[in-house]
Amino acid sequence: MFYLQSTETVIKFPNIPYFLRIAAYFFFLIALIQKTKSISLRLTNKSNLFNLFVFITFATSISVQFLIAPVMGVSDVSFLIAISIVMYPIISWSILFLIISLFYLSQYSKEKWNLLLVISGFGIMVVADFYMGAQLSIGILQPGYIINLHYTVGLLLIALAGRNSQETTEQFKTKESGNFKNIKIVFPYFIVFLLILFVMNSYNWALNALSSGLTVTFLLIMGRQVLVLKRNRELIKEYQFLAYHDPLTGLGNRTSFKKNLEKMMDATNDEGQSMAMFLMDLDRFKNVNDTLGHVIGDCILEETAKRLKCSLGSHLIYRIGGDEFVILVENVSEQTCIQISQKILASFDKPFVVKHHEIVVTPSIGISMYPSHGDTGDLLLRSADAAMYYAKADGKNKFHFFNTELNQLMTRKVELENELRKGLKQNEISLFYQSKLELHTKKIIGMEALMRWNHPTLGSIAPVEFIPIAEETGQILELGEWAIRTACEQTKEWHDKGFRYLIVSVNVSVRQLEHSDFITMVKEALEDTGLDPEYLELEITESIMKNIVEITDTLYKLRAMGVSTSIDDFGTGYSSLHILKELPIDTIKIDKSFVDDIGGPTSLSMIKTIIEMGKNLKLNVVAEGIEEEYQARILEEYQCDFGQGYLYSKPINSEQFEIYLKNAAESKREEQRYIN
Ligand code: C2E
Ligand code: MG
Ligand code: MG
Repeated sequence: MFYLQSTETVIKFPNIPYFLRIAAYFFFLIALIQKTKSISLRLTNKSNLFNLFVFITFATSISVQFLIAPVMGVSDVSFLIAISIVMYPIISWSILFLIISLFYLSQYSKEKWNLLLVISGFGIMVVADFYMGAQLSIGILQPGYIINLHYTVGLLLIALAGRNSQETTEQFKTKESGNFKNIKIVFPYFIVFLLILFVMNSYNWALNALSSGLTVTFLLIMGRQVLVLKRNRELIKEYQFLAYHDPLTGLGNRTSFKKNLEKMMDATNDEGQSMAMFLMDLDRFKNVNDTLGHVIGDCILEETAKRLKCSLGSHLIYRIGGDEFVILVENVSEQTCIQISQKILASFDKPFVVKHHEIVVTPSIGISMYPSHGDTGDLLLRSADAAMYYAKADGKNKFHFFNTELNQLMTRKVELENELRKGLKQNEISLFYQSKLELHTKKIIGMEALMRWNHPTLGSIAPVEFIPIAEETGQILELGEWAIRTACEQTKEWHDKGFRYLIVSVNVSVRQLEHSDFITMVKEALEDTGLDPEYLELEITESIMKNIVEITDTLYKLRAMGVSTSIDDFGTGYSSLHILKELPIDTIKIDKSFVDDIGGPTSLSMIKTIIEMGKNLKLNVVAEGIEEEYQARILEEYQCDFGQGYLYSKPINSEQFEIYLKNAAESKREEQRYIN
């Protein structure tokens, strides 16, 4: 342009610099679209691109109508040249549109001031363009005119913004202000409305019923559309709330917990601080839920959430499942964690009053710290979980920090989990047998099959340690099936060897009973081994009460098959008499803890009650864990029929048990001979 201005007196239009400028503007336009996109992911959505195209269409149609057509009508300019004349204002209009959008978005950007520089730069240039356009249309375009200075200032501002721009990735809030959203929705309608007005004006439409009908109908459609969009927005809000909140308590759910945990961990890394995760659950909540019903259970959860919110205020609280709550606290010391835990425990001091029931609810809390107790969200939760279990084992209604000792326990648990997989295949698991006797005759009536795991390097691992792991991982299904088959096979063998009276008791976990194939599995084990079903007894614990409806059905099926059932460790759980009456059960086994403490008044009266109740319900009563002669005597006195314990025999392997059976038979024969 400078060259043209210095060499030619009259500058022809359009000329090369003009096309170059159009090209440059085109690139500006693309750059602005990219910038707008990068600021807000939301802006990549179709509604914004749609708005841009609506705007461009509008600008094009207006320009064609009012610029191209008149220019082509009065002069001999070619269509291409006419288009190129019009291109310039269209691109300028589009740039204007984008800088307005950018202006709205700039408030959410970290680079707000830089963006304002860009916006001002382009703004000045677009104003200059429109001014130039006006001059061009009346035929004045003078070299060195003051308007050229605007371009220089505009470009300088853009360059300055470029220089200031940081090399960081933008972190923008995606939230848009309500005003901006409304403008976005109404914008295309407004443009169409303007077009209608222009059409009316251009074609000299009279203001009659038709034209006003069209306008009113359009306005009505627009109103309806706006209402639909508003409703959609409300639905989206509701959906977003449900996606991230627990509907019962209104607290954040597992999804929002995971999301915020990651964010918090990142922030903690940046600041070099530590954060704490409190995992809390309600002690014996399942029992309350099972005995008093889900409605009351739900009320307790709601009240728990209220009390937590009340005592913790601003900290982040989530309900991540059942009765499990998580609290995340940033920048804390152990001392603050202790204070927070004490606050939580104190908020449960008062009993809950739900539907006229006064219920004492206590929590157990496990605390893990980031990053020392786990550097990922999963590990941190596992650590808090381990600490919470420790708090429960330690007497409940307590809090406990994760520590290295717990770490070792967790490592051992993971080790056992992996080893157990191989254990069964490599014959490391076996069954031991412990005799059951009729107390007053001392006659062996059967035996309990008890699992043993002898690991080549870890040594012998107790069932109390590996059975819960197997239950957790589901391996109990395979292990349990193996135990039933092996016990049936062994008992059949002993029957065939002459010990026909032996009834074998096999322990069964709730997880096995809940499995849909359980009945078929038992049936097949009996058929395959040839053991008569009446010589098999399955021992279940009171935890079946949790799932009483489905399990009752299974118990009836077992009874129909001829297999008997007994309730193990009776008295430690929460079975109610009423439920026991409804269940098809044959035997109850008084828990060892009562027998241990048989001298104490509480245990004795408990034993008396259990025996009496058992007799009333026509159930057999077995006492387990008899170690001393006097315990056996008292039990006999209270008419307990059967007993089991170290006094008679410890659990022993099958070879030893066979010898034990033979010896017992031999001494009975001796006794008989002696009497005769
Ligand atoms: P349980 O069914 O109540 O078995 C009785 C436990 O008490 C056995 O422990 C037995 O060795 C022990 N015991 C018996 N008499 C005495 C005594 O006089 N004094 C003392 N101190 N202890 C006595 P064990 O074998 O360690 O089994 C523990 C628990 O592991 C069992 O308790 C049962 O719940 C579970 N378990 C064992 N084998 C299996 C199995 O095959 N499947 C399932 N699901 N659980 C099993
Ligand atoms: Mg048992
Ligand atoms: Mg027991």
